[in-house]
Amino acid sequence: MTPSPPQGLDVLSDPGLNKSTGFTLEEREHYGLRGLLPATVCSQDVQIDRVLQNLRRKHADIERYIFLLALLGRNERLFYRALIDHIEELMPLVYTPTVGQACKEYAHIFRQPRGFYVTPQDRGHVRRMLDNWPEDDVRVVVVTDGERILGLGDLGANGMGIPVGKLSLYTACAGIHPEHCLPVTLDVGTNNDELLSDPLYLGVRDRRLGGKGYLELVDEFVMAIQDKYPDALIQFEDFLTPNAYRLLNLYRDQALCFNDDIQGTAAVALAGVYASTRVSGLDFADLRIMFLGAGSAATGIADLMVHAFVETGLSEQEARERLWFVDIHGLVVKERNELFEHNLPYAHDHPGASFADAIRSIEPHVLIGATGHPGTFTQEVVELMAMLNERPTLFALSNPTSKAECTAEQAYEWSEGRAIFASGSPFGSVTLGAQTFRPGQGNNAYVFPGIGLGVVAARATQVTEPMFLAAARTLADLVDEDDLSAGAVYPPLTEIRDVSLDIAVAVAEVAHAAGLTKADRPADLRDSIRASMYDPRY
Ligand code: NAD
Repeated sequence: MTPSPPQGLDVLSDPGLNKSTGFTLEEREHYGLRGLLPATVCSQDVQIDRVLQNLRRKHADIERYIFLLALLGRNERLFYRALIDHIEELMPLVYTPTVGQACKEYAHIFRQPRGFYVTPQDRGHVRRMLDNWPEDDVRVVVVTDGERILGLGDLGANGMGIPVGKLSLYTACAGIHPEHCLPVTLDVGTNNDELLSDPLYLGVRDRRLGGKGYLELVDEFVMAIQDKYPDALIQFEDFLTPNAYRLLNLYRDQALCFNDDIQGTAAVALAGVYASTRVSGLDFADLRIMFLGAGSAATGIADLMVHAFVETGLSEQEARERLWFVDIHGLVVKERNELFEHNLPYAHDHPGASFADAIRSIEPHVLIGATGHPGTFTQEVVELMAMLNERPTLFALSNPTSKAECTAEQAYEWSEGRAIFASGSPFGSVTLGAQTFRPGQGNNAYVFPGIGLGVVAARATQVTEPMFLAAARTLADLVDEDDLSAGAVYPPLTEIRDVSLDIAVAVAEVAHAAGLTKADRPADLRDSIRASMYDPRY
């Protein structure tokens, strides 16, 4: 006997089924909805108009975030269709920069639980707990422990905003079905006193679990995911840098996983640098690149750049010599004895120096900021770069917008309009004299959804560096002359679904060529991946 379809309010309260005023008369009859909805049947386009009107009359972005999350909880397809069709307006609301504020205030704006929580009390029970999750076919897991949320520090269980936001981008940008997405927070406590003393805080009210207990809990979680969802990709997100590296190094060979802060950021930044050479006229193989900030983001970019330089014929040693780091204590050099392990391969034999002096002596072509500290690309720094380079490349990657190393306006003004500028969070257009610049956003969203789609489509068994290189190359090739002449080293976000598809195809090709797949390569890879993409239209 086929089960009878859900009826009445059950349909309206199921976000996957609900079309609200979009239900046709036949559907209203079929689902027992007659009398429960106003008479007019609205097209999805009209519903989107209503969403946008409601959204735009709100006075603060955090209110818009709350409104959009509520829509996601009511009518999933309407939320995703609105997000896809109005990605430039809505992505900054569901992801960075607004998600940063949403995480800070998570416990205060909390309406409805979303995502899966694992706490130290759950030791020994995680696999069984996963059976409480309503979906049997999870393909992408985004997990954080909330210790380094964007550039905002330890936000504990409030960090859940990040996996929720990232997975909404997996769906919007790459068409991973919402049912296949699992947002997770490993709530191991927080060292944030403000949160611990906040009566509304919702997480574990203890200092962070560390050491062996922490690693054992993460391990239990990874094993439980692999057992319940053997094909699922695990994306590590916003872990504190030493943990980010430790976990990536522990699991990269034994689980289908990657770290977006390290590897996703790297692919996006590398793509931007590849594209910048079409403006500067320099050869990628000749570039000297300096990083301000020597944490997970900057080091991840450098690690991928080593692979990219090696592809041009350089040795690994020669590649590393092109890459220089400055952190809070100055130039990263051999004589310093307080460096982290991930800094050591880039600690050169060179006298110590301040940031400005390091620029003077090393003369980089490209400056990449990933410090989490605003104002660190000072006027002196930008002017120096503009003195040394006809077209200085300046990427201010720190998120959210308030943390960017410099603003777009400062980069253009202080370089007399010659900077090739990109940022982590979006900046609006800047007009300088007769020229208007539309700076590109080096947003990981260009890359991770496509990588995930390619990995899931190929049923890949591992995520490898050549996949990130392929993603970077593909993204850079999608930047056209119009983008470049407007100052953007990334394609418009409005093209994100096509960008993700192209990246997915490139990544799946690498996986198939390397024999790292559980699925056979379909005759037409592109068509088959395209056909698998979730389309929220009704
Ligand atoms: P992290 O804490 O691991 O590293 C920060 C680094 O910056 C450290 O090396 C620190 O010494 C250095 N630093 C801090 N203040 C400095 C100063 N005033 N001068 C010089 N160096 C300074 O953090 P992370 O994970 O590397 O992230 C850094 C930033 O990058 C964050 O704001 C994050 O939002 C951003 N990020 C952006 C993207 C993107 O746009 N695609 C992706 C990932 C991370």
